[in-house]
Amino acid sequence: MTDETAFVALENVSKRYETGEGTIAALEEIDLSVPEGGFVSLVGPSGCGKTTLLRLVAGLESPSSGRVRVGGDVVTGPDPDRGLVFQSTTLYPWRTVAENVRFGLEVNDTSATVADRRVERLLSMVGLADRADAYPSELSGGMRTRVGIARALALDPEVLLLDEPFSDLDVATRESLQEDLLGIWHELGKTVVLVTHTVGEAVRLSDSVVVFDGHGAISTVVDVDLDRPRDFETDRFDPYVSAIRNTIRDGRRNDQSTDRCFEQHTTNPKH
Ligand code: ADP
Ligand code: MG
Repeated sequence: MTDETAFVALENVSKRYETGEGTIAALEEIDLSVPEGGFVSLVGPSGCGKTTLLRLVAGLESPSSGRVRVGGDVVTGPDPDRGLVFQSTTLYPWRTVAENVRFGLEVNDTSATVADRRVERLLSMVGLADRADAYPSELSGGMRTRVGIARALALDPEVLLLDEPFSDLDVATRESLQEDLLGIWHELGKTVVLVTHTVGEAVRLSDSVVVFDGHGAISTVVDVDLDRPRDFETDRFDPYVSAIRNTIRDGRRNDQSTDRCFEQHTTNPKH
């Protein structure tokens, strides 16, 4: 399938990992397209391919079959145009906040003046302008995540890939980061793909929510037709959350094995 409007596109993508114990089918024939400037979340049971999908888009893995395109080009490896934020953001402990954000700019030989300006702008965008000289060990988890986001944005990527970035944070911190992420998305117009295990977070943030089944395939894509900023209290919010949760639950109920991805796909490959 080729969708000409897609900015990020997975076309019939499967990913298998060969291990000592057999083949793990992490993704099965995925077709997915995200328009330029779109915000898409991935939700679903753990262990069934969400991180793998992000790593494929990032170019850190290559598909076993099918192809991944970003901005029309087939992804063949990592590229500064795709910024990645992981769940437990690893910052360089010996570098200050500003130096962490600056890292990619230094590697990229950006001039010092441009880099200074950019770091300053990004830090104020993530609410850390006054912590530029702090070291990671002096920061809270939420602040470290903010630095991770700023660092991912340093080289002005077209796509921002976020793998459960807020899952280690308390509810209040998470909500405030969600708001900031929306602000950044709005201001910078990035295409965002977010993996989250919190369905409410996906509904609050995204244009559409991609729900994975337990078998490395997409069970459904839910378009969230709610105005922003979205209010948890609105009558129309909960039905989205319930519908998505039910889809995930139904998928689980249909599974006979708890180690679904491994057992079913090693003994029952699709072809
Ligand atoms: P999720 O992010 O949805 O929890 P993952 O994409 O991390 O799922 O993993 C999907 C499946 O692929 C799991 O069964 C996992 O154990 C397996 N897997 C992921 N990465 C590797 C790898 N590098 N080598 C072998 N198996 C892997
Ligand atoms: Mg994961």
